[in-house]
Amino acid sequence: MPSVTFIFHDYLREMLKKKHRSEYSLQYDSVRKASIKDVIESLGIPHPIIGKLTVNGREIDFNYILQHRDIVEASPLTAPANPFIPTTLRPETLDRISFVVDVNVGKLALFLRMLGFDTVYDIGFRHGKLADIAASEKRILLTRDTSLLKRKIVIHGYLLREQNPMGQLIEVIHLYDLGSMIKPLSRCIPCNGRLVPVDKETVLERLEPLTRKYYESFHLCEQCNRIYWPGSHQEQIVLFVRRVLKAVNQDALSGD
Ligand SMILES: [Zn+2]
Repeated sequence: MPSVTFIFHDYLREMLKKKHRSEYSLQYDSVRKASIKDVIESLGIPHPIIGKLTVNGREIDFNYILQHRDIVEASPLTAPANPFIPTTLRPETLDRISFVVDVNVGKLALFLRMLGFDTVYDIGFRHGKLADIAASEKRILLTRDTSLLKRKIVIHGYLLREQNPMGQLIEVIHLYDLGSMIKPLSRCIPCNGRLVPVDKETVLERLEPLTRKYYESFHLCEQCNRIYWPGSHQEQIVLFVRRVLKAVNQDALSGD
């Protein structure tokens, strides 16, 4: 019967089952041959939030089968996490940053779209569907649900620790170092479609008289045909982006 020592670093320890949280290292006695992924998840930690795993000082992947007297160290995903670079744990890289967001953090999805990030979100999506989209469309899955992230097909994902949506947004921007990729007013907030510039003439008959009179520059959502123009709504978004960037920079300075 293999007996293994686990050392969990940083915030991973907070995610362990209550009885283990206060211990620096924990002893695990396995009754069967098990992969390291299965054992770590049985202790309460979903695999996507692990950044690095070593056994007796050697880096290993999630399929490693635990041996008697192994000493396992697990470190969390920390900023800047770069999903474009292959790692031992995740050789499958992403070719762009895009998200699929769980219903338990719906407001975060709208905030991400506001900043121009391609974000799939639908109130009707259940866990199976969210995991499938993350795998087939190579998207980062964002959730507050541990069991969803434990699904094997989820490669890139993150368990949000903040409760409020603004805090969650800052957490994501900071973790994946997305500050320079923010493109406000480039995506439709209700539907996630891309916004493209359009001639005023093309949309003229759909405009209210005052909008027609005072505005010259228009964008159209490729997907739902909604028209966008500069105005108080856009000014609010620009202010919002400034607030986000300020908070992200403060986070970086504090080394969080
Ligand atoms: Zn739209």
